[in-house]
Amino acid sequence: MQFPLNKKIATAIIIIVALCVGIFVFITLQNKKAPTTPAKITEEINTVSKRTAIGTSVEGRNIDAYTYGTGKTHIVFIGGMHGGYEWNSVLLAYKFIDYIEVNPKIIPENLTVTVIPSANPDGVYKVVGKEGRFSATNLPPKEDTAVGRFNANKVDLNRNFDCNWKPKSTWQNKVVSAGTKAFSEPEAVAIRDFVMKNKPVAGIFWHSQANAVYASDCDNGILPQTLDIMNAYSKASGYGAVKSFDAYPISGDAEGWMASINIPAITVELQTHETIEWDRNLAGIKALFDYYSKE
Ligand SMILES: [Zn+2]
Repeated sequence: MQFPLNKKIATAIIIIVALCVGIFVFITLQNKKAPTTPAKITEEINTVSKRTAIGTSVEGRNIDAYTYGTGKTHIVFIGGMHGGYEWNSVLLAYKFIDYIEVNPKIIPENLTVTVIPSANPDGVYKVVGKEGRFSATNLPPKEDTAVGRFNANKVDLNRNFDCNWKPKSTWQNKVVSAGTKAFSEPEAVAIRDFVMKNKPVAGIFWHSQANAVYASDCDNGILPQTLDIMNAYSKASGYGAVKSFDAYPISGDAEGWMASINIPAITVELQTHETIEWDRNLAGIKALFDYYSKE
């Protein structure tokens, strides 16, 4: 009689122990799942970049856009409007892309960020002599780069937008072609179509080498938010803030066109034609992220 009783007790103990182990394992797994799942999803969303060609140049080169984040508020950064003459603005944009890839959390949750690093790839090719990404080491001397300012139709793209467009415009003391009509050039069309489709809250255009941040306007004055972001970028980066560019008359600029459709746009002019001044620009970018994440 004693043996079966012991056997019953032993069986009961085994069942209880098995149940305890089961419950323990179940609880442990649940606890592990709870905190890791959302974090992992966020990271995956943030690190996924969407690279799309938003158009092609006169010579058929892709104009690429890199998009990060999933927030409702969209900001666009554009480099290389003046091609190989301002190749450093292209390198700055690529530096920003590389930085986001490694530091995806820099983009606040409510933002989507698009970087269009090279708006005039034919002009870059004219100076750099190679397709795709390049480095500062294999570039010609500064005096040979002016030819790369224009697209393959010899048009100054930042005179081809629909803000007081005229067929001829100016660059310093020179007359430049602004195309046969507003948006006659495929590179300007690519930017226009991207903006019209995505309706960004702001556009930041990187140029060189006036060492300043400029506001924008067409005929209706400077938008209040344009002044806010000009001042935010200027304060953080140390580039002086200038409300209107008056060194020489300009027509058909991209920033003015954005202002004409109520989108704040600023021009950030780097200090030289060779440097990307990364720390200063990262500070400016962070100031804009800060501004738009508090809206
Ligand atoms: Zn420029």
